[in-house]
Amino acid sequence: MQSMVILGATGSIGASTLSVISQNPTQYRVYALVANTNVDKMVALCEQYLPKVAHMVSADAAQQLKQRIGHLSVEVTTGADELESLVTSTEVDSVMAAIVGAAGMQPTLAAVKAGKRVLLANKEALVMSGRLFIDAVAEYGATLLPVDSEHNAIFQCLSIEAQHALGKCDLAASGISKILLTGSGGPFLTADLASLAHVTPAQAIKHPNWSMGPKISVDSATMMNKGLEYIEARWLFNATDAQIQVVIHPQSVIHSMVQYCDGSVLAQLGNPDMRTPIAHCMAYPTRIRSGVEPLDFFKVGQLSFFEPDFNRFPCLALAMEASRKGQEATTVVNAANERAVAAFLAGQIGFTDIVRVNEHCLNIVPQSPLDSIADILALDEQCRRYADEFIKHLS
Ligand code: NAD
Ligand code: MG
Repeated sequence: MQSMVILGATGSIGASTLSVISQNPTQYRVYALVANTNVDKMVALCEQYLPKVAHMVSADAAQQLKQRIGHLSVEVTTGADELESLVTSTEVDSVMAAIVGAAGMQPTLAAVKAGKRVLLANKEALVMSGRLFIDAVAEYGATLLPVDSEHNAIFQCLSIEAQHALGKCDLAASGISKILLTGSGGPFLTADLASLAHVTPAQAIKHPNWSMGPKISVDSATMMNKGLEYIEARWLFNATDAQIQVVIHPQSVIHSMVQYCDGSVLAQLGNPDMRTPIAHCMAYPTRIRSGVEPLDFFKVGQLSFFEPDFNRFPCLALAMEASRKGQEATTVVNAANERAVAAFLAGQIGFTDIVRVNEHCLNIVPQSPLDSIADILALDEQCRRYADEFIKHLS
């Protein structure tokens, strides 16, 4: 029986994780559910899953939750220290890291430092803390498994040796010439370029293939998501810039590929449903049922592939450039993008302003390298303020 904490339980990945748990009740138990503010959703989840602990980041939300689930034997907590002791508890085997954005970094790192099995959906944590994160996984003997569908696909196409050396593997020594990171291109792959300035939040979050939370949906529309994934892939697979290529694949049937030096290309395919990579991470190295329909090739019919157009997707180019500059630049781009996407969703700036905010913030990338989490958090904070000022000026 694996005892799990779900960080971001009220979100899209949280729901998919709980769905997989429901289908495998003799193998997984929900130890704790963690969310930010959504009390209604948390009440429903507590009634259904009866976790030992329900943690709300908002103290107000925790207060309300306490009143509403008094009839259940679920302990309600709030506060950063309480969250840390929850993910590091000896009663916990694995942690699903699915808080959205930089807010997920510290609890995820706490789980890593407690040597847990960490199922990583929160790509922003790795984009920010990169080397420090990967080193902590090795130092504290944590098991890191990639939930992001592309990274999970790549992981499944690696040799066992490379899988066991996540973050430190030697791709060339494994005979790998290239990682092919696929992405659908989102809802605006073929839209008239001039129309992008007038895109509404509702249009941007309507992804053609995947159902996801609002932030990652906007990131998919700008392809910043692929940029963050490019950075994520570089850390997870210890890959150089030249070892990763982004490939547009509108059907989202192939979830990424690995090309070997003998000409073989291995791919992982499936319906676009996050329960597949989540179930893979939960059960690795075995397999469990996820509830995902088997892929019907006769329905799929055709698969197509294109080179990304950086003119259409400048956020992708920007994130790749940041990745080449280093961890300070990726921390800045990530923080800027979070503020820009929030402002776009709130109707304060236009869709094409997102890249302007991100670009503007690259001005404050420090020259000297940052080597502690505290420094990274300080840069993240500084960048948010800098981005917010520029957003005020834009709106
Ligand atoms: P979502 O918006 O649906 O859910 C976000 C969750 O994070 C919610 O439970 C919310 O309560 C919690 N949260 C938000 N702010 C918080 C804070 N300050 N402190 C603590 N908790 C907070 O997002 P999602 O789509 O489930 O994505 C979650 C993460 O997984 C993101 O990092 C995303 O990039 C990654 N991811 C998602 C998908 C997907 O299909 N949805 C795929 C790959 C990776
Ligand atoms: Mg992905």
